[in-house]
Amino acid sequence: ESYLARLRLVEPRLNSFLHVSDSVLREAQAVDDRIGRGEDVGPLAGVLVGVKDNICTADMPSTGGSRILEDYRPPFDATAVRKVRELGGIVVGKTNLDEFGMGSTTEGSAYKVTANPWDISRVPGGSSGGSAAAVSARQCMVALGSDTGGSVRQPSSFCGVVGLKPTYGRVSRYGLMAYASSLDVIGCFGSSVADTAILLNAISGHDRYDATSSKREVPDFISQFTASNILEDKPLEGMRVGLIRETLGSGVDSGVVSVINAAASHLEELGCIVKEVSLPSFSLGLPAYYILASSESSSNLSRYDGVRYGSQAVADELSSLYGVSRAEGFGSEVKRRILMGTYALSAGYYDAYYKRAQQVRTIIQKSFKAALDENDILISPAAPSAAYKIGEKKNDPLAMYAGDIMTVNVNLAGLPALVLPSGFVDGGPSGLPVGLQMIGAAFDEEKLLKVGHIFE
Ligand code: GLN
Repeated sequence: ESYLARLRLVEPRLNSFLHVSDSVLREAQAVDDRIGRGEDVGPLAGVLVGVKDNICTADMPSTGGSRILEDYRPPFDATAVRKVRELGGIVVGKTNLDEFGMGSTTEGSAYKVTANPWDISRVPGGSSGGSAAAVSARQCMVALGSDTGGSVRQPSSFCGVVGLKPTYGRVSRYGLMAYASSLDVIGCFGSSVADTAILLNAISGHDRYDATSSKREVPDFISQFTASNILEDKPLEGMRVGLIRETLGSGVDSGVVSVINAAASHLEELGCIVKEVSLPSFSLGLPAYYILASSESSSNLSRYDGVRYGSQAVADELSSLYGVSRAEGFGSEVKRRILMGTYALSAGYYDAYYKRAQQVRTIIQKSFKAALDENDILISPAAPSAAYKIGEKKNDPLAMYAGDIMTVNVNLAGLPALVLPSGFVDGGPSGLPVGLQMIGAAFDEEKLLKVGHIFE
């Protein structure tokens, strides 16, 4: 009840949610009844979870932030949502996002603009801005988001919460609306590393409905927290940390650089050996990402034809039904991506763009592998700046894309990354939060969570 009251109190200013469940208290009562009967209700018993609206829920709308899915009610829960519910979690509502996950501010939602709880004249980041704002403002305890190129990590940084992008394949994508299938992953938001780890425990693991989900055994991500040597003088003694040189150069706010340098010193105090590491291919990530993500999205979004899902335009013929439904249903950024992707995949340009971007992706994967052979984790800012003003970059897509420089490489390499609030820069009524990004080797979320827990 207190969370719902809090949610309603701040929601008119924040607009974090596209839909709030009307059965939260009933579900909470049901969990309570089960506890009363002595049943084992699971580690998420009564935990209120926000779910990004591109993740399907059977009992609530799932619009993906798009007009084209305005009337869509999925007939099933996404696997991650099903697992949350099986462990006692309660889905409190569906959070706002940039349409289909395409954007970095949540201004690209067809429905509303979400505000940053630290300064409501600023963006919460995106595309999972609603989930980040909701956790930051304590409208829910934890939240699910999706991360194709930074959509969990950048809003975590902007809103001062913990965000985890799991390794590609750690979490089933079944029921996540596909944006760029080779990059998409469902991730977690929490107000502490421990909360984030509990949510990751719940949603990880192989799923027969997603052939790319990994069959690897899932460790208990929370077990090490109780066993951790946190009280020792140097609990991270000998941990090798690589500070990515290319992420602290020009184009990065000086306030952000100071926060990251201070975080590096803090890691040293905890016993880490911090050294600069160079990833020369780092700057190639952005163009490669935008070619690959747009190409994949142009193919994935062909399913929205006005027939199979959601809203349908009025038209005389089938071909104009498709055209008019898509013209009316998609927003401008989604159309831009479809056009770019279709162009990059077209016969005459395929080799020059798509194939070349795939080659760059391989180079990036190799350079991360080499850096992670030498280091336990890599660190960088999560974004080149703190949260900026609503409207500031809305009409400048290139400036907005450039802000994804810190995060897209990690998706191209399929690696896990954790973002931790680690300081503030000037701005807003009380300063603006800045997040540190820690990148780990594939399927080594455990190490990230351990370092993160001790760091925070
Ligand atoms: N901002 C990036 C994009 O627009 C990343 C989005 C995401 O991770 N879903 O593609």
